[in-house]
Amino acid sequence: MIDQKLGEELRKQLLQDRERIQGEIENLSAGGVRGDAFLDDETDAVDQHPADDGSELFEREKNLTVRRMLESELDGIKDALIKMDNGTYGLCEICGKLIPEKRLRAYPAAKHDVECQAKLEKMGQRAATGA
Ligand SMILES: [Zn+2]
Repeated sequence: MIDQKLGEELRKQLLQDRERIQGEIENLSAGGVRGDAFLDDETDAVDQHPADDGSELFEREKNLTVRRMLESELDGIKDALIKMDNGTYGLCEICGKLIPEKRLRAYPAAKHDVECQAKLEKMGQRAATGA
């Protein structure tokens, strides 16, 4: 278990991050891609601006990519908060060792210590993204 005081600091950090990321996801849905309305827009776009189709598609895909990144970051934060509640926060998911405070401060949603993270990254990005 990590130090209680450190735990409280990191929880605050995680809650702030969660709020920020949720806000960013909402912005993405509301602005840029025009969110759920894009099906209606598409008909207009084909009628009025056929030349814009390519760039609009590109924008949409770029937004989707950013959105996926944010959502996976959000998942990591949610996991960390759950682990804080059940007392397993700060432990490496692979070797079970305590993740150093310095690393947790830099990245409160860290699931692995540096050694295991490095091994995972060698094995492939799939594991590193938490999937
Ligand atoms: Zn480890």
